[in-house]
Amino acid sequence: MPKMPVQLLSRDEIAQGTLRYRFTKPAELTFKAGQYVSLGIPDPPYRDKKGPRRPLTLASAPNDDVLEFAWRTSDSAFKSILAAAPLGSTYEVVGPIGTFALHDDPTVPAVLVAGGIGITPFRSMLRDVAARGLTHPITLLYWNRNPEQAAYLDELAELDARLPNLKLMLTMTQPETSARGWDGLTERINLDLLRECVGDLQAPMYYVAGPHRIIVAVTEALTVAGVDLARLKKDEFTGY
Ligand SMILES: Cc1cc2nc3c(=O)[nH]c(=O)nc-3n(C[C@H](O)[C@H](O)[C@H](O)COP(=O)(O)OP(=O)(O)OC[C@H]3O[C@@H](n4cnc5c(N)ncnc54)[C@H](O)[C@@H]3O)c2cc1C
Repeated sequence: MPKMPVQLLSRDEIAQGTLRYRFTKPAELTFKAGQYVSLGIPDPPYRDKKGPRRPLTLASAPNDDVLEFAWRTSDSAFKSILAAAPLGSTYEVVGPIGTFALHDDPTVPAVLVAGGIGITPFRSMLRDVAARGLTHPITLLYWNRNPEQAAYLDELAELDARLPNLKLMLTMTQPETSARGWDGLTERINLDLLRECVGDLQAPMYYVAGPHRIIVAVTEALTVAGVDLARLKKDEFTGY
């Protein structure tokens, strides 16, 4: 796959410890909502042993004018270089990669389960659903420790108000760490919570994205419920 140059347009903090980056969108890059790319730093000023590239989900929708990513900050060389990068500097994208995309049949409900920064593919999918007027019944179950750490909360609330077929369920498992306070769900992702949010567990297609523990939690819950695991698509964010 060819390397496509992209220029950094903006960088801002969208949740505690989470930065959003916007880049120019190469004309030749077409992708499906939910896919990822490999983002690379050409000629990095310094390196660590983890290298100058990362697989990163496109948080923007295919029709958006820019490429958007969101990632948890860390002191890796890759993220430190990008955190200090001047606007207009050039990076490279390879992709799109992956098959994590919404099914076509709008009569089959979709259950999207995001753990923390695993919200990125679902932000892309929901923007795409809104842009294309898709009618799939969708439940988004979004787990975080507290609201401060939850990226895209305002935008998701706005999509929830706009899309009649979207049901947004938020769970914050450490509400005591929030200065804002939280009086919604606090359960971890488990079978009881899925039953409460979804109802008939056998009908939907399931999509889970984020760190390993959320993938395991959803896989185990659906296994116990006797759901055919062919109905589950996983997007594991390795590296966390
Ligand atoms: C399909 C996919 C999509 C992803 N999408 C997102 C996203 O949208 N947002 C997001 O925040 N993250 C995403 N990630 C995770 C992302 O690629 C990074 O792994 C993560 O952000 C941690 O990067 P880091 O630089 O902070 O951590 P680091 O620990 O510095 O780097 C992690 C990377 O280095 C590798 N690594 C770790 N230790 C070593 C070592 N000793 N030697 C060599 N390599 C090592 C890991 O395998 C991993 O690739 C995604 C991952 C995958 C696979």
